[in-house]
Amino acid sequence: MRVVFGPGRLAELGEEVARLGPRRVLVLGTPEQGATLQRAVDGLGDRAAGVFAEARQHVPAEIAAAAADRARELDADGCVAVGGGSSVGLGKAVALRHGLPAVAVPTTYAGSEMTPIWGLTEDGVKRTGRDRAVLPRSVVYDPELTLTLPVGLSVTSGLNAVAHAVEALWAPDGTPITAVMAEEGARSLLAALPAVVDRPDDLDARSGALQGAWLCGAVLGATTMSLHHKLCHVLGGSYGLPHAETHAVVLPHVVAHNAPGAPAAVAALGRALGAGADADAVTKALATEARDLGAPTSLAAIGMPREGLPDVVEQVLAAPYANPVPVTRESLTALLDAAF
Ligand code: NAD
Repeated sequence: MRVVFGPGRLAELGEEVARLGPRRVLVLGTPEQGATLQRAVDGLGDRAAGVFAEARQHVPAEIAAAAADRARELDADGCVAVGGGSSVGLGKAVALRHGLPAVAVPTTYAGSEMTPIWGLTEDGVKRTGRDRAVLPRSVVYDPELTLTLPVGLSVTSGLNAVAHAVEALWAPDGTPITAVMAEEGARSLLAALPAVVDRPDDLDARSGALQGAWLCGAVLGATTMSLHHKLCHVLGGSYGLPHAETHAVVLPHVVAHNAPGAPAAVAALGRALGAGADADAVTKALATEARDLGAPTSLAAIGMPREGLPDVVEQVLAAPYANPVPVTRESLTALLDAAF
């Protein structure tokens, strides 16, 4: 896949689409991002067929069908998805179900644009899968578009991306190259986020964060996720906890849990944080940075009912997946109690 990266590169969107072939594209996004969608339309010139600004979290199948219908009405032969994981997810669903190729213009740090992972919610049930057909043909990263991303969302979506990198570091199918990418992705984001919080309009900090998000998304797409993602999936799916915030709360606890079986991952994360290789010190540094950035620090604070914790334990135990240390009822209960 192609990637274009740099401040102001949105201006090249029309050229990028032309290089890939579609004659007329439908611009996809969320209702809140009207001004950014308009900038994309301006950048596309004659190639813009119209705008469909109804992207929503968890990609409802009827929204994907409505976007494909709109594309047909407008005689569009491709899409440009502008926004975060919800917009990019809509582009992927349209590519999967309706065969229209997409170009992505990410505006958060979620990293979905780098993965072949799709999600679709039908009759209240969210299904996910992997299919290379949903990978955007090209990604245009313009850090200027992230200047408006609110600080709170920048932090949680950035820590969500760091979680992808951490799980890639201990993934069963990780490689020396994904390890290098994951460490640098985490380092880049963890270095940039404090500056983003202090100076949200600092373009260098925004560029560093987006570069980190690119790497973290790439390793999410290239490896298999473990306990952390399973936990967050259950907490979000069954208890409606917010996606990025849940990742921010849970990550240090999973690092503490998995550290004994993943010394190389802990050492890499320690280098990324400048915290040495001692597991306790690395876990503490990660939790401290998240707290200092203003991220939520407990499951209670983001709406988890305590009485639901035993059910989460059972759900996580019921689905087998690779993890660097065995997951037991006792270890999971202790992890969730601490996170609560
Ligand atoms: P999002 O796309 O839902 O966006 C959150 C909010 O921020 C929206 O209201 C949006 O309009 C607004 N927003 C986005 N960019 C902005 C900007 N630059 N300025 C101002 N407002 C902006 O959030 P997200 O965290 O990017 O994505 C979360 C979703 O992505 C989840 O559903 C998650 O499951 C999915 N996801 C998928 C993958 C994958 O590989 N398939 C990877 C990561 C996340």
